[in-house]
Amino acid sequence: MRLTDRHIFMVGPCSAESREQVLSIAQEVSNIAADDQLCIFRAGVWKPRTSPDSFQGMGEIALEWLQEVKRKYMPVATEVANAEHVRLCAQYGIEHLWIGARTSANPIAVQEIADAIRRYYTQNDNLLSSVWIKNPVNEDADLWQGNIERIQKTVADRLAQESLVVGAIHRGCGHRPCWHMPYLLRRSMPTLPILLDPSHLTGDAQQVTAYSQIAARLGLEGLMIEVHNNPKQALSDAKQQITPSQLSSLLKQYTSVFSNSSTTALDWLRLQIDETDDNIWRAIAHRLQIAKSIGKWKHENDVPVLQTDRFNSILRQRLSWAQDKGIESESVRIIMDVLHRESRRVQDNSTIVSPAPPRSGSPS
Ligand code: PEP
Ligand code: MN
Repeated sequence: MRLTDRHIFMVGPCSAESREQVLSIAQEVSNIAADDQLCIFRAGVWKPRTSPDSFQGMGEIALEWLQEVKRKYMPVATEVANAEHVRLCAQYGIEHLWIGARTSANPIAVQEIADAIRRYYTQNDNLLSSVWIKNPVNEDADLWQGNIERIQKTVADRLAQESLVVGAIHRGCGHRPCWHMPYLLRRSMPTLPILLDPSHLTGDAQQVTAYSQIAARLGLEGLMIEVHNNPKQALSDAKQQITPSQLSSLLKQYTSVFSNSSTTALDWLRLQIDETDDNIWRAIAHRLQIAKSIGKWKHENDVPVLQTDRFNSILRQRLSWAQDKGIESESVRIIMDVLHRESRRVQDNSTIVSPAPPRSGSPS
């Protein structure tokens, strides 16, 4: 049976923290997949963290724990970010690899990994079963596709024999989806398996099920999900990890949603409309935050809130920006009017000095 004959779920903790943690999660998730589902145990060994003071992963020793998971429970996967990681993964018999979002932003690093795969996973031992490439953190759909092609070229013989899978993982861009990226990928590489990673896409355990159902509705090939036996105590990404029992119900729902879905381009396009509207609200909220600071500055410097010249000049400029983009002038005037009104409201409010709290003992 080929890997992609079943739905693929890469599940496990963000980071391998200890042997006990890894084995206990693996044991709990090892029996929850249905016949048409394949669970692969995921755990990060080297963690690409923003701050040098955060937990950086346990390194090589954690590969021994993954080896034990593979021996006792299920296939295993980890993230590789350089050639040395690939060398060690090959040495410890890790059969599924993924390239993380930060590495995927750098084609030189991806090429180094591709070369290391050729060097350390020799073509004829068939140890390597799949390589997954996450979308880069920046919204660059072409770079994502280019990275996938880099890996595909490296393992072209194995792809031709169908003995290895190269796939993509959509993990959103900074805790929000970028649906146009998997949409474009699906259109340009229709046979490429695509998984959704709702854990990193949302950063919020409460939203993982809802986004998993979207993936099922879109007919994606599966999911990557962070699962922890004690999410609150997790050493990384504590807010987004779900428990093994939550995973169990999520997997059951996945299959039923998937089998009742028939995805059309309209589903993908509507998701992009939802995402765009969400981005518009975010942009307006950001604009109002700035307006608030402007209001405060004007108040402190005795400048009146309403500056008609300034409004007229930005209106002229916005009209010309909008014209370049094919947006009707009348719509621009209405939108700018609403934005300006909101801005003035926020600026007026930011100049109101909150009354001092009543002194104790004063009449209420
Ligand atoms: C991960 O999967 O643990 C991870 C670090 O994800 P990303 O590269 O998507 O941030
Ligand atoms: Mn994580």
